[in-house]
Amino acid sequence: MTEEARKIRLLMELRRLGITDTRVLAAIERVPREAFVLPTFLDQAYENVALPIEHGQTISQPYVVAFMTQALEVGPRMKVLEIGTGSGYQTAILARLCRRVYTIERFPSLLKHAEERLRELRVTNYTARAGDGYRGWPEQAPFERIIVTAAAPKVPEALREQLAPDGILVIPVGELEQDVVRIRRTATGFEEEKLLPVRFVPMLPGVAKEA
Ligand code: SAH
Repeated sequence: MTEEARKIRLLMELRRLGITDTRVLAAIERVPREAFVLPTFLDQAYENVALPIEHGQTISQPYVVAFMTQALEVGPRMKVLEIGTGSGYQTAILARLCRRVYTIERFPSLLKHAEERLRELRVTNYTARAGDGYRGWPEQAPFERIIVTAAAPKVPEALREQLAPDGILVIPVGELEQDVVRIRRTATGFEEEKLLPVRFVPMLPGVAKEA
């Protein structure tokens, strides 16, 4: 099967699984996932599976990327904060849908590799930094949308606070088993919905020390 045929098969599967947002589907179609996976897993780039990247991290399953992106309800003029750059794949998807992505990764070397890929793909509407996502990005807050792609034991308070009015935060919450939770900031507080059971790598505190 050609790569193009595999990609079409994946898009059909995402539709069958309930991804209906055409902007999200178009972004998945346009962003070459093969540019974000390790060479050993190239043949699986368009399988609906999470794959290992460096430092024991993962590039998320395409369905989960599509589901969380759809749940985020991203508009073209929005400023989006992403925690957990990883391979940069989700960053590239978001960059197609919003005005600018601010992305934070705790492994400096993962971030460097992700930025190389994004440069090659000519993705320019993002700003990246190595840091601890638990603190958010106060200098750039508020954000209309925040997405976290690592699992937190509970919703980090700083991220809640950095949401703009009517803002949406999508985050996997839990320890071994997690649920994608969507939090909306309303006039009076926050509304929380559990959307999907998932398994993510943990959101860890602090910047990673690398050899
Ligand atoms: N969105 C990524 C998924 C990467 S996996 C992709 O599409 O490839 C989750 C990432 O979150 C890992 O790279 C991990 O190092 C990072 N991470 C975990 N805790 C973090 C924290 N507190 N701040 C920033 N990044 C964090």
